[in-house]
Amino acid sequence: MAKYQLVIEGAFADAIKGMFYGWVGINGGKIAGFSHDSKPYSGDFEDILVFDSECLILPGFVDTHVHCREPGKDYKEDWRTLGLAAAHGGVTTIATMPNYGEGNSIITKERLNRVIELSDKCIVDKRLWAGLCPDNLDSLEELNHPLVAGYKGFTTSFDPDLTFPRKTEKEFFGMLGYAVEKAKETGKPSVWHCEDETLFDEKARNSGTPWAYSDWRTEESEYRMVGRMVEIARKCGARIHIPHVSSSQSFEIVKGYPMASCEATWHHQEFLKYKMAHDRRLVMNPPLRGWASANKIRKMVNIGYIPMIGSDHAPHKLEEKSRENPPAGVPAEDFFGSLVRERMFSGEMTPEIAVRVTSLNPARFLKLYDRGLLDAGMRADFAVLRMYGNGREMKTYSKCGWNPYPIRDYMEATIIEGKVVFRVGEPVVDV
Ligand SMILES: [Zn+2]
Repeated sequence: MAKYQLVIEGAFADAIKGMFYGWVGINGGKIAGFSHDSKPYSGDFEDILVFDSECLILPGFVDTHVHCREPGKDYKEDWRTLGLAAAHGGVTTIATMPNYGEGNSIITKERLNRVIELSDKCIVDKRLWAGLCPDNLDSLEELNHPLVAGYKGFTTSFDPDLTFPRKTEKEFFGMLGYAVEKAKETGKPSVWHCEDETLFDEKARNSGTPWAYSDWRTEESEYRMVGRMVEIARKCGARIHIPHVSSSQSFEIVKGYPMASCEATWHHQEFLKYKMAHDRRLVMNPPLRGWASANKIRKMVNIGYIPMIGSDHAPHKLEEKSRENPPAGVPAEDFFGSLVRERMFSGEMTPEIAVRVTSLNPARFLKLYDRGLLDAGMRADFAVLRMYGNGREMKTYSKCGWNPYPIRDYMEATIIEGKVVFRVGEPVVDV
């Protein structure tokens, strides 16, 4: 028997070892050996993949924030297309959000089991966030499945299944505090969408500017709610995570709380609210911001102060996005790897930090200690980027079928547990 079932040779980037030329040997879907001595592999193998020196091999990306639409709205994304879009973008692990629309959002055990069953068609590894609502707080343990990473709560009226009613302030924040505490009892973190509706600026909403939507849902409405939630979590000693920070103030608040973490999306770093003058599809919650916040968040991600990128992949059909009041969100999974490559190629982000914010930190946050590093025993999940050349025209495997980013496709390969699942933008497995 050969020493390794698969050997991958080329230039690697690791969060600790930095960049090196070498190889990894894989057995049973895990890294069984590696070398960074700049020499080609000389032992025996069953199969070998050699990536030329214009490619960079990174641990597979781990995306903490993804929306699937099946069950309920599978005309815009189902588990099969979501898995394909993720694998296309080099994302080998996703954590999906609980909101599927009224009647389907994950707030009961039955709905959780149904989603787990449907998610079988997904070719990447997945974890799920279960939903918090007033009715399920005393039975959260029922949702404490091994695939459940933790619990997601919303501070705005949203999906009716996931809304905490706000009649009086005392009752509302009392309920949120109770939810944070109940989540803590399960041993898993809670994640909170933070926007305070009472701080929305109704006048700005009707100002007539193309970015009125952004000015209506003010930065203050986000960071004040972030402040309330991290303080609630501190008081009960719970781990809390703030997804998609759009205001740099939110990040400033979170970093003062050791039990709190946060993530930034691609879109809040890549787009300014002014872009909505040309592209109405960029409506999202929290909305795009102006120079100050967008640039600061981008810088904080680039130096690794914001510890992870959660894409908030939120697929909607173009017909829906061109309506008067479009649904919030943009797709991201297909473009993930090419966006990482652009950040490194431009020199804005080192490969080491890129690995930290896209793989190692999110994996640790999800308590997945078997990925994110190039080490023996780790899952053999890799995203291979072609760093040079002109790239290819971007395809989308997401069912929503469109791309908000002016970006070409530089994904060379995606490998999951030692199996190549995508090669130069095409799936190589039957799904
Ligand atoms: Zn989201």
